Amino acid sequence: ARTFFVGGNWKMNGSIQTSKDLVANLNKAQLDPNTEVVIAPPALHLLLVKDLVESSQVKISAQNAYHKASGAFTGEISVSQLKDAQVPWVIIGHSERRTLFGEADSNVAEKTKAALAESLSVILCVGETLEEREKNETVSVVVRQLDAVAAEVNDWSKIVVAYEPVWAIGTGKVATAEQAQEVHAAIRKWATEKLGSQVAEALRIIYGGSVAAKNCKELAGQPDIDGFLVGGASLKPEFVDIINARL
Ligand code: 13P
Repeated sequence: ARTFFVGGNWKMNGSIQTSKDLVANLNKAQLDPNTEVVIAPPALHLLLVKDLVESSQVKISAQNAYHKASGAFTGEISVSQLKDAQVPWVIIGHSERRTLFGEADSNVAEKTKAALAESLSVILCVGETLEEREKNETVSVVVRQLDAVAAEVNDWSKIVVAYEPVWAIGTGKVATAEQAQEVHAAIRKWATEKLGSQVAEALRIIYGGSVAAKNCKELAGQPDIDGFLVGGASLKPEFVDIINARL
């Protein structure tokens, strides 16, 4: 069975104090011991958060990284620097990176490859826009995004795929359990055909987009939904309820 995975993507939110408060909340919470928890604070707060987290069940993640090891890349943080700082996870290909900062499928692929080469684990984000969904292109878009990574990466054992429909991110419009399950099943079918059934069976496919305490249990009950990538609600006490969705 696949270990349930809940990530908290804090995006560009918070201060030193609110980051401290969020960790303090997690430290005192009762977390389902069967859930793997990864929180992704802003880069500026990564090491502070890492030092404050008490449970070995909770790991930290960067929200982005650059594929080159070092050099004249003002403003970027490399996968090697994350490894050196003992940041074990990185989110790659978030839709905000793709749409607001111009990351193409090929950039996402080279970043994923570089992160894995440094032995980082990767939360790889894919998902369609509303326009693409309305044109019935959801699966073809997600497959295109995944194919780009598969062209560069053979070993998927350290990748968690996050399906995040763009229209559901930050909108309060969560995908229905049926809508999400349908795409997750399509992703697993893709993995079976492209990577083999053993890899596909082990691959965690998590859902992101307006996940909240009130909708997480139904989503978590779907056969191909192996967890969540949570934005807004990861900044609230209800993040603990989402971690405990399967209790
Ligand atoms: P929300 O949970 O705020 O919709 O954000 C989802 C997301 O983008 C997580 O990476």
